[in-house]
Amino acid sequence: MKILTILGARPQFIKASALSRIIAQYNQSNQHEMINEVIVHSGQHFDSNMSDVFFEQLGIPKPNHHLGVSGVGHGVMTGRMLEKLESVTQMEMPDWVLVYGDTNTTLAGALVAAKLHIPLIHVEAGLRSNNLAMPEEVNRVLTDRISTVLFCPTQGAINNLKAEGYPFFCTGRELQNIHNVGDVMLDVIQHYSDEVHDKIDLSRWKVSEREYVLCTLHRAENTNDESRMRGILSALQQISKKWRVIMPLHPRTRKVIDKTIGGDFLKGLNIVDPVPYLEMQRLEMSAHTILTDSGGMQKEAFFHDVPCITLRDETEWVETVELGWNVLAGAYSERILAALDSVKCPDTKADYPYGRGDAAEKIIQQILDLK
Ligand code: UDP
Repeated sequence: MKILTILGARPQFIKASALSRIIAQYNQSNQHEMINEVIVHSGQHFDSNMSDVFFEQLGIPKPNHHLGVSGVGHGVMTGRMLEKLESVTQMEMPDWVLVYGDTNTTLAGALVAAKLHIPLIHVEAGLRSNNLAMPEEVNRVLTDRISTVLFCPTQGAINNLKAEGYPFFCTGRELQNIHNVGDVMLDVIQHYSDEVHDKIDLSRWKVSEREYVLCTLHRAENTNDESRMRGILSALQQISKKWRVIMPLHPRTRKVIDKTIGGDFLKGLNIVDPVPYLEMQRLEMSAHTILTDSGGMQKEAFFHDVPCITLRDETEWVETVELGWNVLAGAYSERILAALDSVKCPDTKADYPYGRGDAAEKIIQQILDLK
């Protein structure tokens, strides 16, 4: 069986590592049919600290194809990816195309599969912010609609799909397959948790347990809006008077700050380049609080039992908010500061809303069963 995995952005490398590992295990233990995973990297994230380091650290097989599409706007990026992905997919003629999440790479991969009538697997299906101004929301809604198999991370994602009338017919008379398998990012956290503890020492950032807050910021709804950026950065300035603020800065955010906001807004903050996955988990698990507009980090905060303040007006990861581990503060200074003053760790975590860390195994088993 041949699976063409199409990826291109940091969170996709992390998610893909879980499946690649299970595929390798399956191939080692199985005497019969092998799963041949062919990886296509679109190039969407290309800096070595946003891409190569994840392949190396997480043992993801080197991509078989690299499309080199990056550094252009949404339309051009998606168009170039479509053109290049179509020829790679025609050449490989896989049994399945597999895409992750909600980036332009996800949408381009999904469209190519649908047009070539190749069954499409969407991992992390069914999430909704219900805000179509987010490029990610457009990508995920469209990808879900043309997927053959939708692997959802939560019951909430399944409910979202049901509310929209899913399942639809995907090919001929066949209905889409929809499964709640849990979140593949939990698989990755669990797999590396001992290594993170044993190998990565907090002292390299000159901080101690719970004595700093960790912040990441990169969503277009923030970086493309000067007043939101100013609101968030002013709050961080205030926070830095009391706490060390460690901020691994996304390349897009750095560009925006250099161009429009000005570096003065970063004074007092501990700005570092994007860090590799294991280092990031170390920083997350020992933080007092995580402030972020990242989807993945909201969940990781929850997995590490660290309170989170989300710098957005809505979230797809509603369980973290419902269970009291995450507060939506938007981009308003006062709300962010008030949230930091009041955050605490709830007593309970409830019933595994993101599964038990075996999502990748479930996904591969389902694909084998569907064959
Ligand atoms: N991450 C990382 N290094 C960093 C920042 C983030 O390894 O400097 C990881 C983080 O732990 C999480 C993932 O990248 O696993 C989240 O990716 P990102 O925030 O880029 O995307 P999103 O989850 O918002 O789609």
